[in-house]
Amino acid sequence: MTFSGLRVLKEGLTGNRGWAPHWRDPEPKAAYDAVIIGGGGHGLATAYYLAKNHGLTNIAVLEKGYIGGGNIGRNTTIVRANYFLPGNSEFYSHSLKLWEGLEEDLNYNVMHSQRGIINLFHSDGQRDAFVRRGNAMITQGDDAILLDREGVRQHLPYLDFENTRFPIYGGLYHPRGGTARHDAVAWGYARGADRRGVDLLQNCEVTGIDIENGAVCGVQTTRGAIRAKKVGIVVAGRSSQVAAMAGMRLPIESHVLQAFVTEGLKPCIDHVVTFGMGHFYISQSDKGGLVFGGDLDFYASYASRGNLPTAEHVMEAGMTLMPMIGQAKLLRSWGGIMDMTPDGSPIIDRTETDGLFIDCGWCYGGFKAVPASGYAFAHLMATGQHHETAAAFRFDRFRTGRGLLDEEGTGSQHNLH
Ligand SMILES: Cc1cc2nc3c(=O)[nH]c(=O)nc-3n(C[C@H](O)[C@H](O)[C@H](O)COP(=O)(O)OP(=O)(O)OC[C@H]3O[C@@H](n4cnc5c(N)ncnc54)[C@H](O)[C@@H]3O)c2cc1C
Repeated sequence: MTFSGLRVLKEGLTGNRGWAPHWRDPEPKAAYDAVIIGGGGHGLATAYYLAKNHGLTNIAVLEKGYIGGGNIGRNTTIVRANYFLPGNSEFYSHSLKLWEGLEEDLNYNVMHSQRGIINLFHSDGQRDAFVRRGNAMITQGDDAILLDREGVRQHLPYLDFENTRFPIYGGLYHPRGGTARHDAVAWGYARGADRRGVDLLQNCEVTGIDIENGAVCGVQTTRGAIRAKKVGIVVAGRSSQVAAMAGMRLPIESHVLQAFVTEGLKPCIDHVVTFGMGHFYISQSDKGGLVFGGDLDFYASYASRGNLPTAEHVMEAGMTLMPMIGQAKLLRSWGGIMDMTPDGSPIIDRTETDGLFIDCGWCYGGFKAVPASGYAFAHLMATGQHHETAAAFRFDRFRTGRGLLDEEGTGSQHNLH
C-alpha cells in the first residue's frame, strides 16, 4: 500500500474504506533463521535492517502485546545528536543521519521535524560544560550554536527571564535536533520489515529461551515453540526478566519515567526546550498538545504508571520556567519502564551463549537511537562483528570498569543517569 497524494484524496472522498492492513498477520512457523524478541522500535528496526542490509528474510519479530504498545509509543519523541563522549557521539550522529533519510527509506511519513533543541544553562560552570559539549558536537560533524541570554530570548521569548529561581544564562542550540511521531516510526519499520518477508507475530510472549550445549536453539512462546539458531533480545524495560530466561543477570535497574500532555493549543512552542537545572523539558506536538516530562520516579518498579510526587515536581519546574504553562489544562499522563544501566549508556553485544545477542540499556534516551541501534544490532547479528558506530556498547565495561560511558559524570547509580 502506498500513500500517494492521489490515493489519500481518493480515500478521503470515499470514506477511507480502501486501506488495507499495513502488515500481514501470519501464523508462527516452526523455525526461522533468526528471531527478535520485542516488537518495539529497536526490535522492528533490527528486523528491517537484517532484511534490507543483510538479506536475512526468514526471520520473525515476537511481540507479547501489539506493535507500538511499549515505550516506542510512550516517549516524548525527542531526536538529537548532542552527545559528548567518543563512543556515544559517533553513534548518535549516525542515528541522526539515518533519521534524516528515514521517510524516504521507509516511504512513510514519520513526521520527523527538525525544529531545533535548546538546552538552557544557568551558571558559569554549566556554560563551560555546554561549550565543551558543543565543540564535541561540531568536531563530530554535527551542529551546535552557543546562545547568550539575549539569543535565548529571541528564540524563546515566553520564558521567565526576570523572576525565576535559576536565572537563564544562555543555551546550547542544536538546530538539527527535533521530534518525530513515535507510533509512525514503529509502523513504518514494521511495514518495511513485513514487505521484505519478516513475520511480525503479535500476542506472542516469549516465556523461555532454549539453550543446548552453550548455544541457543530456540524460544518457548505463548504461541508454541519456535526454533532459531540466532535470537536477539530487544525488550527495553523487560530486559532483565527476558535475559534471566537465559540465566543472565544484567547490570540494569528498571525505573519508571512519566510524561504529560496538555489539551491542544495554537502553536506557541516552536522548539524542544530542556531545563536540566529543574528537571523539565517540553515541546509542542503537531496536534497542539504541550508534551513534557522530567526526571525518573525515584525507585525501581515495573509499573508503567507514575506517582504524584514526581508529577508535582515536573509541574513546579515547568511553572518556574514558563509561568504561562499554568494556563493550560493537563489532558493525560503516563509512564514507561526504562532499562537503566550504571553508566547511562546502552549495551549492544553478544552474550556468553552462542547465537544469543542483546540490545538494551537505552535508559530514557532510546527513541532517537532506534535507527542506528537497529542498524548496528542487525550488523552484529548477521556478521558476528560489532558495527563501528556501536563498538563501545559492550558488556565487559561493567566487569572491567574500562570504557565506561558516563556522559554526565553522575557515577554508578542507575537512576541518576
Ligand atoms: C515517558 C518517556 C519519555 C521518553 N522520551 C524520550 C525522548 O524524548 N527521546 C528519546 O530518545 N527516548 C525517550 N524515551 C525512551 C525510549 O522510549 C526508549 O528508550 C525506547 O523506546 C526503548 O526501546 P523500544 O522502542 O524497543 O522499546 P519498547 O517499545 O518498549 O519495545 C520492547 C517490546 O518488547 C516487548 N516484550 C517485552 N517482553 C517480552 C517478551 N517476553 N516476549 C515478547 N515481547 C516482549 C514489549 O511488549 C515491547 O513492545 C522515553 C521513554 C518514556 C517512557
